[in-house]
Amino acid sequence: MQTRASLLNGGWPACPVDLKHAIHRNGTYCRYGDTEEEEKSITVLRFRCYPCGHTISVLPDEMLPYRPLKAELVEGDFDTRSGDQPEEAELSEKESGCLKRAWHRFTQRLDALTSVLGQMMQIRASDAKLIWIQLRRLGNLRDILHLLGRKFKTSLLGDYRCLKPWPPRIPES
Ligand SMILES: [Zn+2]
Repeated sequence: MQTRASLLNGGWPACPVDLKHAIHRNGTYCRYGDTEEEEKSITVLRFRCYPCGHTISVLPDEMLPYRPLKAELVEGDFDTRSGDQPEEAELSEKESGCLKRAWHRFTQRLDALTSVLGQMMQIRASDAKLIWIQLRRLGNLRDILHLLGRKFKTSLLGDYRCLKPWPPRIPES
């Protein structure tokens, strides 16, 4: 499964099934953090719960799952789309495309997001711009991702299976 660095306790993940399970470091893997500079790869730490036989990847807080975009860039772009201020950031064509797809994805996630976040805040809008403005009251995008991961095991742009805890192992009889 995948978690976020800010969700770790003391820099180390815990087994979602049994806190007593020993978790070991299990290498790293690289993913690209930037659409423009592909050599600027991001290192993702990987851990393994040996009793369960599952791995836990720890995504740096500035990253979104499965998107080659930094949280700050997405946050700035969504702020711009939700407000009236003109585009300020200088973006490459590739970044603009990725951000456009990210926003489009966000507009398709409104029902899912309002249903989970409705448990903790009043969301009165069904419009993507207004919902983004309400989400931003919770903090920056890192904070929003942290909250979605911690409380709801989900993310902003997708309810990815990798964010869900693995099920307990059924003992062999
Ligand atoms: Zn375990």
